[in-house]
Amino acid sequence: KRSWLQKLKAGLSKTSTNLTTLFVGAKIDDDLYDELESALLVSDAGVEATQFLLDALKKKVKSEKLTEAQQVKDALRALLIEMLAPLQKPMVLGRHQPLVMMIAGVNGAGKTTTIGKLAKHLQTHHQSVLLAAGDTFRAAAREQLAIWGARNDVTVIAQESGDPAAVAFDAVQSAKARNVNVVMVDTAGRLPTQLHLMEELKKIKRVIGKGMEGAPHELLLVIDGNTGQNALAQVKAFDDALQLTGLIVTKLDGTAKGGILAAIAKTRPVPVYFIGVGEQIEDLQPFNAEEFVDALLS
Ligand code: GDP
Repeated sequence: KRSWLQKLKAGLSKTSTNLTTLFVGAKIDDDLYDELESALLVSDAGVEATQFLLDALKKKVKSEKLTEAQQVKDALRALLIEMLAPLQKPMVLGRHQPLVMMIAGVNGAGKTTTIGKLAKHLQTHHQSVLLAAGDTFRAAAREQLAIWGARNDVTVIAQESGDPAAVAFDAVQSAKARNVNVVMVDTAGRLPTQLHLMEELKKIKRVIGKGMEGAPHELLLVIDGNTGQNALAQVKAFDDALQLTGLIVTKLDGTAKGGILAAIAKTRPVPVYFIGVGEQIEDLQPFNAEEFVDALLS
């Protein structure tokens, strides 16, 4: 069985081959920098992060008088790790009883799968978990969560119809009464067109705060690592509306082009708590900048 790191490497290598190979036997000249620029852009790093990395790299090559391509690659590795390190932040459990997490993300990003994986992760860290099926607009989403909850010994608070904010409020009260450690509030990724998603989400956040002061303690956004600059736009929009505390980047085992994390680090550095590297329950891993950069460059 492949380890999660192998899955990550396999995913990133499909599109980051250029980042790996362009240094092999290369001379340090404008061609190398041009190729690196293209490779970074292709990897979804975005214009801003790409330019920053190139400038910093050129400066370093000059000041440290690097002459070998491998040294330049090592310098790039160090710069990338430095850039991504601020995104690495462990999720601290047990700060509140219950710790309330609200989880957002557009449909298809992998939100439902991630909630399942995260609940499991929390259980293995001795946290009892309660789920609020806040996507009251999709019956299927609610049912999926209910089935999953029953199978994994996680209570799911759901209502047949009605207001997602009310479901979230009930879930927090219920968790208090049962002394549950963590409440995860699922939310809709798309609404019937007459409703505005961000307004609904803001309302849920507000109502959760009425049920428990200071909650939600975590506002997480799930993004699909394959969607590049689109994912970046989602981070900005959700962060503007909701003040995110963390991201979970999914599907990095697929055709993802890991550079998106550099783009996030440069333009909207919301911590990346976890990365998703597969569809299985164990395929959720805390983000580690060094491991990630090595997977990207090897
Ligand atoms: P939601 O609409 O955001 O709730 O998305 P789902 O959780 O239903 O996920 C959409 C699809 O992406 C499903 O087929 C999942 O199995 C798949 N998926 C989610 N996370 C990952 C991941 O980390 N890696 C891979 N390969 N697939 C994933």
